[in-house]
Amino acid sequence: MLAKLKNINAFEILGDYWTLLLVRELLYGASTWSDFSAVISIPPSTLSNRLAKLVAAGCVVKKALPKRADGTYKLTEAGKRLFYIMVVAREWQLRWDPRPGAFVSPWRHECGAPLRCKTACLACHAEILTEDIIFNEKTPFHEHGSTLNHRTSAKPGADLRSSNAEIAKASVFLGDQKALKVMSAILQGHYRFDDIQKWTRMHPATLSARLRKLQLLGLCVTRLYQESPDRLLYLPSDAGKELIALIMELMKWSSSRKKESSNQPALLHKPCGAGLETDLICSACEGHVTYENTSVNL
Ligand SMILES: [Zn+2]
Ligand SMILES: [Zn+2]
Repeated sequence: MLAKLKNINAFEILGDYWTLLLVRELLYGASTWSDFSAVISIPPSTLSNRLAKLVAAGCVVKKALPKRADGTYKLTEAGKRLFYIMVVAREWQLRWDPRPGAFVSPWRHECGAPLRCKTACLACHAEILTEDIIFNEKTPFHEHGSTLNHRTSAKPGADLRSSNAEIAKASVFLGDQKALKVMSAILQGHYRFDDIQKWTRMHPATLSARLRKLQLLGLCVTRLYQESPDRLLYLPSDAGKELIALIMELMKWSSSRKKESSNQPALLHKPCGAGLETDLICSACEGHVTYENTSVNL
């Protein structure tokens, strides 16, 4: 059981809303049961379950406290690296769906500036723009604009908006492992229902539900490519395309935990021609951003 859990990837760790919040608090320095419950209204059984899951996944270690039933929880090295995923998620959030209170963060970079990041190419150090990423030859990204006939899906669902009004879009998305997987498939060039299904190995009904959710979140748009029977291509929206930085961080994290190289997307950075590897830099000073050179002021 434990060995199996050790191999779980970032999608599975962060693909849960409560775990996401707990990781955030752990990164801020929370370490005890009362720290967590002071800031997150989480049912005790859920808290205990998610902490156990993080321990089993090797992201958190638990230390017993004398004379107390609970203990202290600390992030391991793998757990600390989840920082990069959270930071990139927050950048996306601030750009595409800024909301009061959404991913408000007390992080500061070592230069003293409040932490804002850019994703740069590891090879040429230029900031990565989605249009500079080469996905693969058959990608319809290049047709974007004139030829795209976006079929408008249903209006953004009242259900999604109202029930999650307080929850940032990035965390609605991040906190859904299946939605993440589907988006990841789309960003890697799988645009047809059958292809996405093959890649994600999801039940068709589950996949339909997630595709609909991605449309409601504005991350994915559809284009009719065949009529009667109607067949659709699922394409990333502009906001959806920019999730590539986040997906790359998720994959980087997952593959850093495995010996064998995982199925990295075959992406190229157009300006320099290098295989796409990303690097986080500070928007203020252009210096590297690491967990170690940032600090938290709560
Ligand atoms: Zn480059
Ligand atoms: Zn800086």
